[in-house]
Amino acid sequence: MSIHARNGIAVVFLTLLFFLTIANLALTQAAAAPGVTATGISSASVPRPDQGHFDGLISPPCAPAQLSWRNLSKGSLPLVKHVRCEVPPGGLPRITPLPVTDPQPTPDPDPQPQPGEPGTPTDPAPNPEPTPVPEPTPTDPVTDPGTDPTPQPPFVDPGFRYYPPGDLIPQDAGRGRKDRKVWLPDMIFPLKLGENEHPHMNSQIWGYGGGGWGGKGAAGGRECDPRNYDPMQQRDNYCEVRGWKMPLCPAGKGHQGQDIRAPSCKDNKWEVVAVVDGKIDMRTRNTTVRLVGKDGTKYRYLHMHPRSIRVSVGQRVKQGDVLGRISRFMGGKRATSTHLHFDVTQKIKIGNRAPRTVYVPLYTSLIAAYRHAKGLDRGIDSDGNLIAQYPLEIGVPAPPEPEPTPTEPTDPTPSDPTPTQPTEPTDPTPSEPTPAEPTEPPPSSDRTWWQWGKDTIKSWTDWWYS
Ligand SMILES: [Zn+2]
Repeated sequence: MSIHARNGIAVVFLTLLFFLTIANLALTQAAAAPGVTATGISSASVPRPDQGHFDGLISPPCAPAQLSWRNLSKGSLPLVKHVRCEVPPGGLPRITPLPVTDPQPTPDPDPQPQPGEPGTPTDPAPNPEPTPVPEPTPTDPVTDPGTDPTPQPPFVDPGFRYYPPGDLIPQDAGRGRKDRKVWLPDMIFPLKLGENEHPHMNSQIWGYGGGGWGGKGAAGGRECDPRNYDPMQQRDNYCEVRGWKMPLCPAGKGHQGQDIRAPSCKDNKWEVVAVVDGKIDMRTRNTTVRLVGKDGTKYRYLHMHPRSIRVSVGQRVKQGDVLGRISRFMGGKRATSTHLHFDVTQKIKIGNRAPRTVYVPLYTSLIAAYRHAKGLDRGIDSDGNLIAQYPLEIGVPAPPEPEPTPTEPTDPTPSDPTPTQPTEPTDPTPSEPTPAEPTEPPPSSDRTWWQWGKDTIKSWTDWWYS
Protein backbone atom coordinates (compact mmCIF):
# COMPACT_ATOMS: atom_id res chain seq x y z
CA MET A 1 0.00 0.00 0.00
CA SER A 2 1.43 3.40 -0.94
CA ILE A 3 2.25 6.03 1.63
CA HIS A 4 -0.43 8.33 0.12
CA ALA A 5 -3.08 5.76 0.58
CA ARG A 6 -2.02 5.24 4.16
CA ASN A 7 -2.10 9.02 4.84
CA GLY A 8 -5.59 9.18 3.37
CA ILE A 9 -6.79 6.45 5.65
CA ALA A 10 -5.16 8.21 8.60
CA VAL A 11 -7.13 11.40 7.88
CA VAL A 12 -10.37 9.45 7.72
CA PHE A 13 -9.50 7.72 10.98
CA LEU A 14 -8.76 10.98 12.83
CA THR A 15 -11.97 12.57 11.54
CA LEU A 16 -13.99 9.59 12.69
CA LEU A 17 -12.27 9.68 16.06
CA PHE A 18 -13.22 13.37 16.46
CA PHE A 19 -16.91 12.73 15.83
CA LEU A 20 -17.02 9.78 18.15
CA THR A 21 -15.55 11.91 20.94
CA ILE A 22 -18.27 14.54 20.44
CA ALA A 23 -20.98 11.88 20.51
CA ASN A 24 -19.67 10.43 23.73
CA LEU A 25 -19.70 13.82 25.44
CA ALA A 26 -23.37 14.36 24.55
CA LEU A 27 -24.30 11.00 25.88
CA THR A 28 -22.56 11.55 29.22
CA GLN A 29 -24.40 14.82 29.80
CA ALA A 30 -27.76 13.25 29.01
CA ALA A 31 -27.13 10.51 31.54
CA ALA A 32 -26.70 13.12 34.25
CA ALA A 33 -30.08 14.68 33.54
CA PRO A 34 -32.45 15.18 36.50
CA GLY A 35 -34.63 12.26 37.41
CA VAL A 36 -32.08 9.70 36.42
CA THR A 37 -29.62 8.30 38.84
CA ALA A 38 -26.00 8.57 38.01
CA THR A 39 -25.42 4.91 38.49
CA GLY A 40 -23.84 4.59 35.14
CA ILE A 41 -25.10 3.71 31.75
CA SER A 42 -23.90 0.20 31.62
CA SER A 43 -26.73 -2.19 32.26
CA ALA A 44 -24.38 -4.22 34.40
CA SER A 45 -24.13 -1.43 36.97
CA VAL A 46 -27.75 -1.79 38.07
CA PRO A 47 -28.96 -5.22 39.11
CA ARG A 48 -32.02 -6.30 37.29
CA PRO A 49 -34.96 -7.24 39.48
CA ASP A 50 -34.51 -10.87 38.65
CA GLN A 51 -30.82 -11.02 39.36
CA GLY A 52 -30.99 -11.76 43.04
CA HIS A 53 -30.01 -8.46 44.56
CA PHE A 54 -33.59 -8.00 45.58
CA ASP A 55 -34.20 -11.55 46.69
CA GLY A 56 -37.29 -11.71 48.78
CA LEU A 57 -37.71 -8.03 48.53
CA ILE A 58 -37.88 -6.61 45.10
CA SER A 59 -39.27 -8.63 42.31
CA PRO A 60 -41.35 -6.41 40.07
CA PRO A 61 -39.88 -6.43 36.57
CA CYS A 62 -39.14 -3.22 34.75
CA ALA A 63 -42.30 -2.18 33.05
CA PRO A 64 -41.88 -0.51 29.68
CA ALA A 65 -43.12 2.74 31.12
CA GLN A 66 -40.30 2.64 33.58
CA LEU A 67 -37.47 2.45 31.11
CA SER A 68 -35.45 5.56 31.30
CA TRP A 69 -34.09 5.52 27.83
CA ARG A 70 -36.46 8.32 26.96
CA ASN A 71 -34.85 10.55 29.54
CA LEU A 72 -31.38 9.50 28.66
CA SER A 73 -31.85 10.26 25.03
CA LYS A 74 -33.51 13.58 25.62
CA GLY A 75 -31.86 16.03 23.30
CA SER A 76 -29.83 13.34 21.67
CA LEU A 77 -30.25 10.09 19.90
CA PRO A 78 -31.61 7.07 21.83
CA LEU A 79 -28.20 5.53 21.90
CA VAL A 80 -29.08 3.01 24.57
CA LYS A 81 -31.76 0.48 23.86
CA HIS A 82 -32.11 -1.37 27.15
CA VAL A 83 -31.05 0.71 30.04
CA ARG A 84 -32.71 -0.49 33.20
CA CYS A 85 -35.47 0.39 35.61
CA GLU A 86 -35.30 4.01 36.33
CA VAL A 87 -34.40 4.47 39.96
CA PRO A 88 -35.75 7.55 41.69
CA PRO A 89 -33.40 9.67 43.73
CA GLY A 90 -32.46 7.73 46.81
CA GLY A 91 -34.41 4.70 45.75
CA LEU A 92 -31.60 2.35 44.96
CA PRO A 93 -29.54 2.78 48.11
CA ARG A 94 -32.69 2.33 50.10
CA ILE A 95 -33.56 -0.98 48.51
CA THR A 96 -30.36 -2.78 49.32
CA PRO A 97 -30.46 -2.34 53.11
CA LEU A 98 -34.10 -3.27 53.27
CA PRO A 99 -33.54 -6.96 53.82
CA VAL A 100 -31.69 -6.09 56.97
CA THR A 101 -33.43 -2.96 58.10
CA ASP A 102 -37.10 -3.25 58.97
CA PRO A 103 -38.13 0.39 59.24
CA GLN A 104 -38.20 0.70 55.50
CA PRO A 105 -41.08 -1.73 55.02
CA THR A 106 -43.33 0.41 57.13
CA PRO A 107 -43.62 3.18 54.56
CA ASP A 108 -44.71 0.59 52.08
CA PRO A 109 -48.38 1.09 52.58
CA ASP A 110 -48.01 4.37 50.76
CA PRO A 111 -46.98 2.76 47.53
CA GLN A 112 -50.29 1.07 47.16
CA PRO A 113 -51.90 4.27 45.96
CA GLN A 114 -49.39 4.07 43.14
CA PRO A 115 -51.97 3.47 40.44
CA GLY A 116 -53.31 6.95 40.90
CA GLU A 117 -50.04 8.71 40.36
CA PRO A 118 -49.67 10.07 36.87
CA GLY A 119 -45.99 11.02 36.78
CA THR A 120 -44.19 8.56 34.55
CA PRO A 121 -40.85 9.08 36.23
CA THR A 122 -42.54 8.73 39.58
CA ASP A 123 -44.17 5.43 38.72
CA PRO A 124 -41.00 3.42 39.08
CA ALA A 125 -40.86 4.35 42.73
CA PRO A 126 -44.12 2.66 43.66
CA ASN A 127 -43.09 -0.61 42.09
CA PRO A 128 -40.11 -1.27 44.26
CA GLU A 129 -42.07 -0.24 47.33
CA PRO A 130 -44.93 -2.69 47.11
CA THR A 131 -42.44 -5.47 47.19
CA PRO A 132 -41.29 -4.65 50.70
CA VAL A 133 -44.85 -5.32 51.76
CA PRO A 134 -44.17 -9.05 51.79
CA GLU A 135 -41.65 -8.23 54.45
CA PRO A 136 -44.28 -8.54 57.16
CA THR A 137 -42.17 -11.40 58.34
CA PRO A 138 -39.49 -9.14 59.72
CA THR A 139 -42.25 -6.82 60.87
CA ASP A 140 -43.85 -9.51 62.98
CA PRO A 141 -41.00 -9.57 65.43
CA VAL A 142 -41.50 -5.87 65.79
CA THR A 143 -45.17 -6.37 66.46
CA ASP A 144 -44.56 -8.95 69.13
CA PRO A 145 -42.37 -6.72 71.19
CA GLY A 146 -45.11 -4.18 70.75
CA THR A 147 -47.53 -6.60 72.28
CA ASP A 148 -45.36 -7.02 75.32
CA PRO A 149 -46.07 -3.58 76.65
CA THR A 150 -49.76 -4.43 76.90
CA PRO A 151 -49.40 -7.13 79.57
CA GLN A 152 -46.78 -4.99 81.24
CA PRO A 153 -49.06 -3.38 83.79
CA PRO A 154 -47.99 -5.40 86.81
CA PHE A 155 -50.67 -7.71 88.11
CA VAL A 156 -51.79 -6.64 91.54
CA ASP A 157 -53.48 -9.59 93.18
CA PRO A 158 -56.85 -8.42 94.51
CA GLY A 159 -56.83 -11.27 97.00
CA PHE A 160 -59.76 -13.28 95.73
CA ARG A 161 -60.58 -16.02 93.26
CA TYR A 162 -63.85 -17.32 91.94
CA TYR A 163 -65.18 -20.43 90.31
CA PRO A 164 -66.85 -20.13 86.91
CA PRO A 165 -70.56 -19.34 86.78
CA GLY A 166 -72.67 -22.48 87.13
CA ASP A 167 -69.84 -24.43 88.72
CA LEU A 168 -71.67 -25.34 91.91
CA ILE A 169 -70.25 -27.27 94.80
CA PRO A 170 -69.71 -30.94 93.79
CA GLN A 171 -72.80 -32.07 95.72
CA ASP A 172 -74.85 -30.04 93.21
CA ALA A 173 -72.84 -30.85 90.12
CA GLY A 174 -74.90 -30.29 86.98
CA ARG A 175 -77.46 -28.09 88.67
CA GLY A 176 -75.75 -24.82 87.93
CA ARG A 177 -76.53 -22.52 85.06
CA LYS A 178 -73.38 -22.06 83.01
CA ASP A 179 -74.26 -18.62 81.79
CA ARG A 180 -71.56 -15.99 81.50
CA LYS A 181 -73.94 -13.18 80.67
CA VAL A 182 -73.74 -10.29 83.08
CA TRP A 183 -77.40 -9.56 83.56
CA LEU A 184 -76.86 -6.56 85.81
CA PRO A 185 -73.73 -4.81 84.57
CA ASP A 186 -74.22 -1.55 86.45
CA MET A 187 -74.95 -2.64 89.96
CA ILE A 188 -72.48 -2.45 92.81
CA PHE A 189 -71.77 -5.18 95.32
CA PRO A 190 -74.54 -5.44 97.95
CA LEU A 191 -72.09 -5.33 100.86
CA LYS A 192 -70.03 -2.36 101.88
CA LEU A 193 -66.46 -3.56 101.53
CA GLY A 194 -63.50 -1.77 103.01
CA GLU A 195 -59.93 -2.29 101.98
CA ASN A 196 -58.83 -5.89 102.50
CA GLU A 197 -62.40 -6.86 103.27
CA HIS A 198 -63.94 -9.60 101.16
CA PRO A 199 -67.33 -11.20 100.90
CA HIS A 200 -67.63 -14.98 100.81
CA MET A 201 -70.03 -16.25 98.23
CA ASN A 202 -70.71 -19.92 98.88
CA SER A 203 -73.27 -22.52 99.90
CA GLN A 204 -74.97 -22.31 103.27
CA ILE A 205 -76.42 -25.78 103.30
CA TRP A 206 -73.27 -27.57 102.19
CA GLY A 207 -70.83 -25.40 104.08
CA TYR A 208 -69.55 -26.00 107.61
CA GLY A 209 -72.37 -25.49 110.08
CA GLY A 210 -74.95 -26.11 107.34
CA GLY A 211 -77.55 -28.81 107.52
CA GLY A 212 -77.11 -30.41 104.11
CA TRP A 213 -80.22 -31.25 102.11
CA GLY A 214 -82.92 -33.75 102.91
CA GLY A 215 -81.10 -34.74 106.06
CA LYS A 216 -77.97 -35.64 104.18
CA GLY A 217 -74.66 -34.08 103.36
CA ALA A 218 -74.14 -32.00 106.46
CA ALA A 219 -70.49 -30.99 106.62
CA GLY A 220 -70.61 -30.64 110.37
CA GLY A 221 -68.67 -28.04 112.30
CA ARG A 222 -69.74 -24.48 112.86
CA GLU A 223 -70.68 -21.77 110.47
CA CYS A 224 -67.80 -19.57 111.63
CA ASP A 225 -65.31 -22.19 110.45
CA PRO A 226 -62.51 -20.33 108.63
CA ARG A 227 -63.05 -22.61 105.65
CA ASN A 228 -66.36 -20.85 105.09
CA TYR A 229 -64.45 -17.59 104.91
CA ASP A 230 -61.90 -18.14 102.22
CA PRO A 231 -61.96 -15.30 99.66
CA MET A 232 -60.07 -17.54 97.25
CA GLN A 233 -63.10 -19.83 96.93
CA GLN A 234 -65.96 -17.60 95.76
CA ARG A 235 -68.67 -19.86 94.33
CA ASP A 236 -71.97 -19.69 92.52
CA ASN A 237 -74.98 -21.19 94.30
CA TYR A 238 -77.79 -19.98 92.06
CA CYS A 239 -79.88 -23.07 91.22
CA GLU A 240 -78.45 -25.00 94.16
CA VAL A 241 -80.77 -27.77 95.28
CA ARG A 242 -84.07 -26.32 96.52
CA GLY A 243 -87.77 -26.73 95.83
CA TRP A 244 -88.39 -23.29 94.39
CA LYS A 245 -89.64 -23.13 90.86
CA MET A 246 -86.83 -21.74 88.73
CA PRO A 247 -87.39 -21.67 84.96
CA LEU A 248 -83.79 -20.68 84.25
CA CYS A 249 -82.23 -23.50 86.20
CA PRO A 250 -81.35 -26.76 84.40
CA ALA A 251 -83.49 -28.70 86.85
CA GLY A 252 -86.39 -26.25 86.60
CA LYS A 253 -86.11 -25.56 90.30
CA GLY A 254 -83.50 -24.50 92.80
CA HIS A 255 -82.05 -21.70 94.85
CA GLN A 256 -83.27 -18.30 93.69
CA GLY A 257 -80.19 -16.22 94.28
CA GLN A 258 -76.73 -16.02 95.79
CA ASP A 259 -75.77 -16.55 99.41
CA ILE A 260 -73.08 -14.21 100.65
CA ARG A 261 -71.25 -14.37 103.93
CA ALA A 262 -69.85 -11.15 105.32
CA PRO A 263 -66.12 -10.44 105.66
CA SER A 264 -66.34 -12.09 109.06
CA CYS A 265 -68.79 -14.26 110.95
CA LYS A 266 -69.73 -11.45 113.32
CA ASP A 267 -73.50 -10.88 113.47
CA ASN A 268 -75.16 -7.51 112.88
CA LYS A 269 -71.96 -5.75 111.90
CA TRP A 270 -71.60 -5.72 108.14
CA GLU A 271 -73.64 -3.22 106.19
CA VAL A 272 -75.82 -4.00 103.22
CA VAL A 273 -76.20 -1.32 100.57
CA ALA A 274 -78.51 -0.43 97.70
CA VAL A 275 -76.99 -1.84 94.52
CA VAL A 276 -78.70 0.72 92.28
CA ASP A 277 -80.72 3.88 92.61
CA GLY A 278 -84.34 3.05 93.32
CA LYS A 279 -87.17 2.81 95.76
CA ILE A 280 -87.93 0.43 98.61
CA ASP A 281 -91.16 -1.37 97.83
CA MET A 282 -91.14 -4.09 100.48
CA ARG A 283 -90.07 -4.66 104.04
CA THR A 284 -91.38 -7.68 105.88
CA ARG A 285 -91.16 -8.91 109.39
CA ASN A 286 -89.25 -11.77 107.81
CA THR A 287 -86.51 -9.14 107.61
CA THR A 288 -86.69 -8.94 103.89
CA VAL A 289 -86.09 -5.65 102.12
CA ARG A 290 -86.80 -5.21 98.43
CA LEU A 291 -85.45 -2.47 96.22
CA VAL A 292 -86.91 -1.64 92.81
CA GLY A 293 -84.61 -0.11 90.22
CA LYS A 294 -85.70 2.42 87.63
CA ASP A 295 -85.98 -0.32 85.02
CA GLY A 296 -88.31 -2.39 87.18
CA THR A 297 -85.67 -4.89 88.27
CA LYS A 298 -86.28 -6.00 91.85
CA TYR A 299 -83.49 -6.77 94.31
CA ARG A 300 -84.21 -8.73 97.47
CA TYR A 301 -82.12 -8.70 100.63
CA LEU A 302 -82.90 -11.40 103.20
CA HIS A 303 -81.85 -12.23 106.75
CA MET A 304 -80.86 -8.75 107.94
CA HIS A 305 -81.11 -7.97 111.61
CA PRO A 306 -84.57 -6.42 112.22
CA ARG A 307 -83.22 -3.56 114.30
CA SER A 308 -80.59 -2.73 111.71
CA ILE A 309 -82.98 -1.97 108.88
CA ARG A 310 -83.12 1.77 108.34
CA VAL A 311 -85.34 2.08 105.28
CA SER A 312 -89.08 1.94 104.89
CA VAL A 313 -91.47 1.16 102.07
CA GLY A 314 -91.72 3.99 99.57
CA GLN A 315 -88.35 5.44 100.48
CA ARG A 316 -86.06 6.41 97.63
CA VAL A 317 -82.46 5.39 97.94
CA LYS A 318 -79.31 6.01 96.01
CA GLN A 319 -76.81 3.40 94.97
CA GLY A 320 -74.56 2.72 97.97
CA ASP A 321 -77.04 3.84 100.64
CA VAL A 322 -77.02 1.55 103.66
CA LEU A 323 -80.16 -0.53 104.09
CA GLY A 324 -79.29 -2.55 107.18
CA ARG A 325 -76.82 -5.12 108.51
CA ILE A 326 -76.22 -8.78 107.87
CA SER A 327 -77.62 -11.22 110.39
CA ARG A 328 -79.22 -14.66 110.52
CA PHE A 329 -82.91 -13.89 110.87
CA MET A 330 -85.51 -15.88 109.03
CA GLY A 331 -89.20 -16.03 109.83
CA GLY A 332 -88.68 -13.41 112.50
CA LYS A 333 -86.12 -15.38 114.45
CA ARG A 334 -82.51 -16.50 114.24
CA ALA A 335 -83.05 -19.51 112.12
CA THR A 336 -80.32 -19.55 109.50
CA SER A 337 -76.62 -18.94 109.15
CA THR A 338 -75.22 -15.45 109.25
CA HIS A 339 -75.32 -14.33 105.66
CA LEU A 340 -77.12 -12.26 103.11
CA HIS A 341 -79.37 -14.00 100.66
CA PHE A 342 -79.51 -11.76 97.60
CA ASP A 343 -81.68 -12.37 94.56
CA VAL A 344 -83.02 -10.48 91.57
CA THR A 345 -86.21 -10.73 89.57
CA GLN A 346 -86.90 -9.39 86.12
CA LYS A 347 -89.79 -9.71 83.76
CA ILE A 348 -88.38 -11.49 80.76
CA LYS A 349 -89.49 -13.61 77.87
CA ILE A 350 -88.35 -17.20 77.86
CA GLY A 351 -88.77 -19.00 74.58
CA ASN A 352 -92.10 -18.31 72.94
CA ARG A 353 -93.95 -17.88 76.18
CA ALA A 354 -95.33 -14.56 77.35
CA PRO A 355 -92.96 -12.43 79.46
CA ARG A 356 -92.98 -13.34 83.11
CA THR A 357 -91.13 -12.46 86.26
CA VAL A 358 -88.34 -14.84 87.15
CA TYR A 359 -85.25 -14.97 89.31
CA VAL A 360 -82.38 -14.25 86.97
CA PRO A 361 -78.79 -15.50 87.22
CA LEU A 362 -76.77 -12.98 89.19
CA TYR A 363 -73.46 -14.61 90.02
CA THR A 364 -71.63 -13.03 87.09
CA SER A 365 -73.06 -9.64 87.99
CA LEU A 366 -71.83 -10.06 91.55
CA ILE A 367 -68.37 -11.00 90.32
CA ALA A 368 -68.29 -7.95 88.06
CA ALA A 369 -69.38 -5.74 90.98
CA TYR A 370 -66.86 -7.41 93.28
CA ARG A 371 -64.05 -6.74 90.82
CA HIS A 372 -65.22 -3.16 90.56
CA ALA A 373 -65.24 -2.80 94.35
CA LYS A 374 -61.61 -3.94 94.41
CA GLY A 375 -60.45 -1.47 91.82
CA LEU A 376 -60.47 -3.82 88.85
CA ASP A 377 -62.45 -3.44 85.69
CA ARG A 378 -65.71 -5.31 85.76
CA GLY A 379 -64.41 -7.92 83.37
CA ILE A 380 -67.29 -7.69 80.95
CA ASP A 381 -66.55 -8.25 77.28
CA SER A 382 -68.17 -6.52 74.32
CA ASP A 383 -70.86 -9.19 74.20
CA GLY A 384 -71.87 -8.53 77.78
CA ASN A 385 -70.30 -11.70 79.14
CA LEU A 386 -67.93 -12.14 82.04
CA ILE A 387 -64.44 -12.66 80.72
CA ALA A 388 -62.59 -15.81 81.72
CA GLN A 389 -59.55 -14.27 83.27
CA TYR A 390 -56.51 -15.97 84.65
CA PRO A 391 -55.75 -16.19 87.51
CA LEU A 392 -58.88 -14.69 89.04
CA GLU A 393 -61.22 -17.30 87.67
CA ILE A 394 -60.41 -20.75 88.92
CA GLY A 395 -59.69 -23.23 86.14
CA VAL A 396 -58.70 -20.69 83.52
CA PRO A 397 -55.32 -21.77 82.16
CA ALA A 398 -52.41 -19.40 82.35
CA PRO A 399 -51.70 -17.65 79.08
CA PRO A 400 -48.63 -18.89 77.24
CA GLU A 401 -45.38 -17.30 78.29
CA PRO A 402 -44.09 -14.54 76.04
CA GLU A 403 -41.92 -17.09 74.28
CA PRO A 404 -42.48 -15.63 70.85
CA THR A 405 -39.33 -13.60 71.20
CA PRO A 406 -36.99 -16.54 71.65
CA THR A 407 -38.86 -18.56 69.09
CA GLU A 408 -38.59 -16.01 66.34
CA PRO A 409 -34.87 -15.57 66.58
CA THR A 410 -34.64 -19.33 66.44
CA ASP A 411 -36.56 -19.52 63.22
CA PRO A 412 -34.42 -17.10 61.30
CA THR A 413 -31.29 -18.80 62.55
CA PRO A 414 -31.99 -22.20 61.06
CA SER A 415 -33.50 -20.85 57.93
CA ASP A 416 -30.81 -18.29 57.25
CA PRO A 417 -27.82 -20.51 57.59
CA THR A 418 -29.35 -23.30 55.59
CA PRO A 419 -30.15 -21.29 52.51
CA THR A 420 -27.14 -19.07 52.86
CA GLN A 421 -24.56 -21.79 53.06
CA PRO A 422 -25.81 -23.72 50.12
CA THR A 423 -25.94 -20.49 48.26
CA GLU A 424 -22.36 -19.61 48.99
CA PRO A 425 -20.96 -22.91 47.78
CA THR A 426 -23.06 -22.36 44.76
CA ASP A 427 -21.51 -18.97 44.28
CA PRO A 428 -18.12 -20.34 43.41
CA THR A 429 -19.73 -22.20 40.60
CA PRO A 430 -21.46 -19.14 39.27
CA SER A 431 -18.22 -17.27 39.74
CA GLU A 432 -16.92 -19.17 36.78
CA PRO A 433 -19.72 -17.92 34.67
CA THR A 434 -18.64 -14.50 35.83
CA PRO A 435 -16.62 -14.21 32.69
CA ALA A 436 -19.96 -14.59 31.06
CA GLU A 437 -20.82 -11.11 32.28
CA PRO A 438 -18.19 -9.49 30.12
CA THR A 439 -19.76 -11.55 27.45
CA GLU A 440 -23.04 -9.82 28.02
CA PRO A 441 -21.88 -6.39 27.03
CA PRO A 442 -20.81 -7.62 23.60
CA PRO A 443 -24.41 -8.23 22.61
CA SER A 444 -24.87 -5.55 20.02
CA SER A 445 -28.05 -4.49 21.69
CA ASP A 446 -26.10 -3.17 24.65
CA ARG A 447 -23.18 -1.65 22.73
CA THR A 448 -22.99 2.08 22.44
CA TRP A 449 -21.63 4.00 19.52
CA TRP A 450 -18.69 4.81 21.70
CA GLN A 451 -17.87 1.21 22.31
CA TRP A 452 -18.45 0.35 18.71
CA GLY A 453 -16.10 3.18 17.68
CA LYS A 454 -13.42 2.10 20.06
CA ASP A 455 -13.55 -1.43 18.74
CA THR A 456 -13.46 -0.20 15.17
CA ILE A 457 -10.52 2.12 15.78
CA LYS A 458 -8.65 -0.63 17.53
CA SER A 459 -9.12 -2.96 14.61
CA TRP A 460 -8.05 -0.23 12.24
CA THR A 461 -4.98 0.53 14.30
CA ASP A 462 -4.04 -3.09 14.36
CA TRP A 463 -4.43 -3.18 10.61
CA TRP A 464 -2.37 0.06 10.23
CA TYR A 465 0.58 -1.34 12.10
CA SER A 466 0.23 -4.81 10.72
ZN1 LIG B 1 -80.12 -18.14 99.92
